[in-house]
Amino acid sequence: MQPSDKALVPFVSVDNMMRLIHHIGVEQMITQIAAQIETDFKRWESFDKTPRIPAHSPHGVIELMPTSDGEAYGFKYVNGHPKNTSEGLQTVTAFGLLADVYTGYPTLLTEMTILTALRTAATSALVGSYLAPKSATTMAMIGNGAQSEFQCLAFKAMCGIDTVRLYDTDANATAKCAANLQGKGLKVVPCKTPEDAIEGAQIITTCTADKKYATILTDNMVGPGVHINAIGGDCPGKTELHRDILLRSEIFVEYPEQTRIEGEIQALDADHPVTEMWEVMTGQATGRTDDRQITLFDSVGFAIEDFSALRYIKRAIEDTDFFEPLDMLADPDDPRDLFGMLMRAE
Ligand code: NAD
Repeated sequence: MQPSDKALVPFVSVDNMMRLIHHIGVEQMITQIAAQIETDFKRWESFDKTPRIPAHSPHGVIELMPTSDGEAYGFKYVNGHPKNTSEGLQTVTAFGLLADVYTGYPTLLTEMTILTALRTAATSALVGSYLAPKSATTMAMIGNGAQSEFQCLAFKAMCGIDTVRLYDTDANATAKCAANLQGKGLKVVPCKTPEDAIEGAQIITTCTADKKYATILTDNMVGPGVHINAIGGDCPGKTELHRDILLRSEIFVEYPEQTRIEGEIQALDADHPVTEMWEVMTGQATGRTDDRQITLFDSVGFAIEDFSALRYIKRAIEDTDFFEPLDMLADPDDPRDLFGMLMRAE
């Protein structure tokens, strides 16, 4: 089957996603997804955009993230349940779908738990390549859970980082992350406090999960010239940085309408100035302007990043066996004879 066959939908399972990633290489795939995201951010105005649609509960959040460029339509289903890890479950799981706008037929269904980690890392490092100090060699990685290794490798591949300093409130998470990064070309320094982790780091990534206003970084921890990549605060009532850091930083976002609801900037006035990354990428806005400036990427994850990742996967599986055809569309020979098709199947 070719993925273009209209009635059978190519489905990429977790197993096939892992095979595909090994076939391409983690860092190569992150870099290639980042290139697709950059291409799509540069044509920002051709997309339908809306803040994602959340269903909050005391346990976590389930969200739908749709977008379309008029030719393809994509959405991701994603959850965020910080309490899950204590029950042996993932904090974040996801799957996604791409469809043809002309027919409305799905053209791809795929796991997106691993793909989300790749696309989040790709977006972080892409933004870092615009905003982080060019001489950056060391990144503090605070929060050493599921996303962390992907983040470290993305900044190595795309921003020239050679050292990561790891910190997590759970020492087992740090040990896991350090072990997974062995032999991956990074100097890995496990740290016992967040203050130790940020020592000498030009880039600070916060990627923690807690359903509350947490203070992972306080104002006195952040020196001039640093780039902060704040990943973990991505829900109303769930942030990572002290407000004073925000007031000292030049803040960059994906889609302000969503970030004001979900990001670190929910702690600021609704008209606090922020810069949209697509404008930096197209040259309509400036990124870092001097060596002493603190740049903050207030990342929440936006639907266009998932759309880019979905289209990347659709292309990557063409003429491969990294997918299976899924019989998920009823498609009778006579389009009006749905009932007849059912009866003939008896
Ligand atoms: P995870 O649960 O696997 O890992 C989170 C880690 O944070 C855990 O190891 C936990 O011990 C640690 N932690 C919690 N509080 C801490 C603190 N105060 N200091 C240091 N470490 C602390 O979760 P994950 O899949 O790695 O995701 C992390 C966060 O990133 C989640 O909040 C998730 O919603 C968010 N996320 C954002 C994006 C985005 O696009 N911005 C994408 C994916 C995930």
